[in-house]
Amino acid sequence: MKTVSTLFDLGAARLSLNGMVGLVPTMGFLHEGHLSLIRRAKLECDSVVVSIFINPTQFGANEDLSKYPRDLARDLSLIEPLGVDLVWNPTAEEMYPAGYQTWVEVDALTRPLEGSIRTSHFKGVTTVVAKLFNAVQPHKAYFGQKDAQQAAVIRQMTRDLNFPIEIIVCPTTREADGLAMSSRNKYLEGADRPAATVLFRALSGAKSAYESGERNAEKLRIIMKDTLASEPHAQPQYISCADYDTLEELEVVSGKALLSMAVLVGKTRLIDNFVLG
Ligand code: AMP
Repeated sequence: MKTVSTLFDLGAARLSLNGMVGLVPTMGFLHEGHLSLIRRAKLECDSVVVSIFINPTQFGANEDLSKYPRDLARDLSLIEPLGVDLVWNPTAEEMYPAGYQTWVEVDALTRPLEGSIRTSHFKGVTTVVAKLFNAVQPHKAYFGQKDAQQAAVIRQMTRDLNFPIEIIVCPTTREADGLAMSSRNKYLEGADRPAATVLFRALSGAKSAYESGERNAEKLRIIMKDTLASEPHAQPQYISCADYDTLEELEVVSGKALLSMAVLVGKTRLIDNFVLG
């Protein structure tokens, strides 16, 4: 497994990769969720590139950029046994040199849900992913359903900008008690950790109501809201039952839908979602 940092070294290493190339973009502090994306890429591609880059432009001014967990040595030891060919770990200066001024923005899809609270987040995400795509030139790129809106936004950007890349969205990997794996779970302390299962419990409650025939989207939102309200450590930021493709809030669930939420558990902001239909 080769590890490179500069764009120059990446370019040289990319030339030596054979066949179908898969890219798995990450911000590091890897867990089983990331590894599931890498395993899927290994199954479907001849060569696998993992990028590890904590992208400063997707963090808001009051967010956790400086505190975001990092451990490159541990990350490399986790991915080496999976047969990854190339790890790209650029610096912020390499990605955004002095004088940088070009941005990629997706419009309507970035406004609701995460975009309503983290207003500049997706501009940072789409910009960095476009730069990763241009630098690595993969045939396939792997993202997690855990970040459902991110996956939708990247699919849209890929289509709109004619990137010849297949976007593959992989299922959410969970802890045994249902908590979606996330690098930010490291922040959960004491009673916040068991309380964090409330997202999974709220989503499961709404999903079983849907499976019993409930199609009124507001009723599904209320089921999630009531479950979250029963957990004193949890403070919801949004609770949504939206159209899967447009992410617009629904009145009636008639096709594919996305149940999603962002919740502060103690001081830790968690997101999770289920797909219906
Ligand atoms: P991150 O390092 O948090 O930016 O995540 C890198 C990629 O891993 C993104 O495509 C995420 O959606 C995906 N990912 C993060 N957590 C999970 C999870 N629990 N299951 C599946 N994919 C995940």
